[in-house]
Amino acid sequence: MAERQRALVTGGAGFLGSHLCERLLGEGLDVVCMDNLITGSLANIEHLFGRDGFVFVEHDVTNFIHVAGRLDHVLHFASPASPIDYLKLPIQTLKVGSLGTHKALGLAKSKGARFLLASTSECYGDPLVHPQPESYWGNVNPVGPRGVYDEAKRFAEAITMAYHRHHGLDTRIVRIFNTYGPRMRAGDGRVVPTFICQALDGEPLTVFGDGLQTRSFCYVDDLIDGIWRLLNSDHTDPVNIGNPAEMTVLDFAKEIIRVLGSKSRIVFRELPVNDPKVRQPDITLARRVLGWAPEVTLADGLAPTIEYFRHHR
Ligand code: UDP
Repeated sequence: MAERQRALVTGGAGFLGSHLCERLLGEGLDVVCMDNLITGSLANIEHLFGRDGFVFVEHDVTNFIHVAGRLDHVLHFASPASPIDYLKLPIQTLKVGSLGTHKALGLAKSKGARFLLASTSECYGDPLVHPQPESYWGNVNPVGPRGVYDEAKRFAEAITMAYHRHHGLDTRIVRIFNTYGPRMRAGDGRVVPTFICQALDGEPLTVFGDGLQTRSFCYVDDLIDGIWRLLNSDHTDPVNIGNPAEMTVLDFAKEIIRVLGSKSRIVFRELPVNDPKVRQPDITLARRVLGWAPEVTLADGLAPTIEYFRHHR
């Protein structure tokens, strides 16, 4: 019988990392989950402890990473990922995207493992092309408050391609667009948990700016499926994974109030600096090379997400 494959997931106790660990275990892989728990949480992976083939290692991946034994895949998901997290943790955000990616690449190279980088739609910044195809180079302010995340991820893509071209490392890059689902952190400031928690508590929903900026929300199961397909493909250039169903933040607030039958009002607050005005993935490439498209509607994705926040806020 073939030996089981073994994957390292950095940031494995985070929102996406924990869902990814679960999927990999479900696919029959052994999983080493690594996290320094600054934004991740053991509660996200509690249910995986004791599962055959699952181990957790507490470690900051900006320092040398040691993993004993074989590794077939290194999936680098460690990073603060919500605007308020990376504003609070600017240096850690820059370090994990740069030094952490370097360490994770070095580990993949030494093990002969395939490397997958969790990149982001923030590579496109406040985009001047809409929707955003992978061929668009972006409109990022390097010295603005979001620059610490955007530029770290852009560096991470550059060093990943350098390892691919120069060392022949087998690499994949996924550009992740706004994703939601259970295990987001209630206080992480992102629009989905914030609006759901505010509506559940009867508090006003805080819409930033005029609320006419747009986002496109992908349910976590769809996203993880796209990542799994990318990992198993041979496509080494970046691939957008996200849901093209675009809506304004104001319409999203109204939708949350409607779905919850909430009595909450909407209040308007100042727009954060460099907040992208539009965002929608062009997923032509993912459809073509991965045969992937999102399947979960907003209504079907919101139901389990709301249920989660009833008990986790
Ligand atoms: N937003 C909002 N109210 C909130 C939190 C966020 O109106 O309480 C807006 C934010 O300004 C942005 C969008 O919702 O335009 C998505 O913000 P999020 O922090 O979820 O992530 P981003 O897509 O900006 O990285």
